[in-house]
Amino acid sequence: MADNISRSLAEVLNRIAHAAADSGRQAKDATLVAVSKTHAADRVEAALKAGQLVFGENRVQEAETKFPPLKAVWPDLKLHLIGPLQTNKVKEAVALFDVIQTLDRPKLAHALAREMERSGRRPDCFIQVNTGEEPQKAGVTPEELEDFVALARDELKLPIVGLMCIPPVNENPSLHFAFLNTLAQRLGLEQLSMGMSADYEQAVRLGATVVRVGSAIFGRREQAART
Ligand SMILES: *Cc1c(COP(=O)(O)O)cnc(C)c1O
Repeated sequence: MADNISRSLAEVLNRIAHAAADSGRQAKDATLVAVSKTHAADRVEAALKAGQLVFGENRVQEAETKFPPLKAVWPDLKLHLIGPLQTNKVKEAVALFDVIQTLDRPKLAHALAREMERSGRRPDCFIQVNTGEEPQKAGVTPEELEDFVALARDELKLPIVGLMCIPPVNENPSLHFAFLNTLAQRLGLEQLSMGMSADYEQAVRLGATVVRVGSAIFGRREQAART
């Protein structure tokens, strides 16, 4: 198992490096977030031993049981929250995560600002954009985005570093990746979190600075994980 994870990781990193080169960038310009949701701590440990230090989880509670012991052993481990954040979990999220990728509404922005002020911890934040304007999906719509950036970054002074998107399943993701890039440039935001197992190379070619890859590293998930 550890062998498989190490081999898959090397493969994904290699593909990222090639995709980055295709777009005139370097491998280090795109950070791989290894999405370990639903996988047990021993699989995360196998990835750590293979040199991977950045991980993504979509549920605060699951991350809270899995990661503190690993962080104690691997102090350079960085953890990203890539799933929806409820305001009643903001305290735990700010304490545990190094990056919060799913800032998606004013109420959450206010709650994060209060908790960062209280705790003194300031995890980097991405604003999740619902580029496909899907009613059931989280994220700020493209029309709301400018006002939301004004609130979160300029008024509340949150450490907003970039934009994140999850394209609709039945559409060409490239259109959404290119669109997210345009939005970020317009707003002066440098980072783009986009691309999953099926399309991370396309995302890197279109400027992703962060890709979120789960199954291509850890294999299929047993439970149906919410996205
Ligand atoms: C689960 C998840 C991923 C990883 O998905 P894979 O297809 O397994 O690579 C990426 N981003 C988000 C937001 C997720 O929930």
